[in-house]
Amino acid sequence: MRLDKKPLKEYISNLGFFHVGFARTRYLEEESERLENWLNQSYHGEMSYLERYFDFRLDPQKLMPGCKTILVLAMNYFQEPRPLNENQSKISIYALGKDYHKVIRSKTKEIIRWMRTNYGEISARAFVDSGPVLERVWAKESGISWTGKNTLSINPKTGSYFFLTCILTDLEFEADIPIKDYCGTCKKCIDACPTQAIHPDGFLLDASKCISYLTIELKSNIPEEFKGKMDNWIFGCDVCQDVCPWNRFSKQTNVHELQLFDSLKQLTDQEFIDMSQDTFNKVFSQSAIKRTGLTGMQRNIRFNQ
Ligand code: SF4
Ligand code: SF4
Repeated sequence: MRLDKKPLKEYISNLGFFHVGFARTRYLEEESERLENWLNQSYHGEMSYLERYFDFRLDPQKLMPGCKTILVLAMNYFQEPRPLNENQSKISIYALGKDYHKVIRSKTKEIIRWMRTNYGEISARAFVDSGPVLERVWAKESGISWTGKNTLSINPKTGSYFFLTCILTDLEFEADIPIKDYCGTCKKCIDACPTQAIHPDGFLLDASKCISYLTIELKSNIPEEFKGKMDNWIFGCDVCQDVCPWNRFSKQTNVHELQLFDSLKQLTDQEFIDMSQDTFNKVFSQSAIKRTGLTGMQRNIRFNQ
C-alpha cells in the first residue's frame, strides 16, 4: 500500500528543507558505465574512497535490503556577500556556517524518529554525504533537479546552492516525476571554470582539476600547473554556480545554523597564516573548514600568493 506523502513532506519542510522528492529504488544500470569510465580516467584524483563500494553506489538494495523508496531532501545554503572582507581570499559559501554534515544529520535523525512514531517499526537509513549513494542521480529521479553541465543538481525555481541528502526506507510512496534538463545551449559554467575542469561538452567533471578538490580533498601539494589559476579561492569554489543563470533567483538560506559565523567575518589571510593549531581547533570546531585543516588552509593561501 502506498502511503500519503503530504504529512511527511510537511514535517520535513518544517525542519528547513526546501525540496523533498521521492524516488523508487532501482538498480542504476545506466550509471555503471559512466562511473566506471570516470574512475578509469582517474578524474577522482586522490579520492580513492570513490573506487570502493562500486556495486553499492548503483544498487541501494545492497545498502539496505528491502528498500523501496529513496527520499531526497534539499537544503538551501545560499548567502551573500563574498569575500567577507578585502583581506580574506574566497571561501565557498556552503562552508561559512556550521558544518552541514552536523546540521543535516541531526535533522535526518528527527525525520526517522518521526517516521517510526507515525508508521511503526520501519527500516530507514540516512546518508549525509557519508556513504556510497549517488545523491545527484536520485535528486534527478525524484523530480528535485536535473544535473547541469557543471554536474551539479539544479532546480528551476531555486537554482543549485543546496545540499542533498538521501533517506532509504522500506516504506512505499508514490514516486515523483523527473524534470527535464534546462541547460539548453548555455555553456557559461564551462567557459567560466578557472581550471577547465568541466569537459567542453559539459556533464563531465575532471575532479582532479577542480578547485574544490585542490583546496579541500588534495592532501599533497597543489600541482604547479594550477599556479595563477585558482581565482583566489582558498576553500572550495563557487564559480560554476555563480555564473549559472538558474541561480539568479537564489534566496538567502533561512537555516540559521548555516549562516555565516561571526568569527569568520573579519578573519584575514594573514591571520590564517599566523594562527596556532589551538586557535584553529577552537574557531573551526563546528565548521566544514576543519576538513582541510590549518596546514591545508595555509597551503592554499600561500599557493595563491
Ligand atoms: S567548482 Fe570551480 S573549479 Fe570546480 S568545476 Fe566549478 S568552476 Fe570549475
Ligand atoms: S551555467 Fe548554463 S550550462 Fe552550466 S549548469 Fe548552468 S544552465 Fe547549465
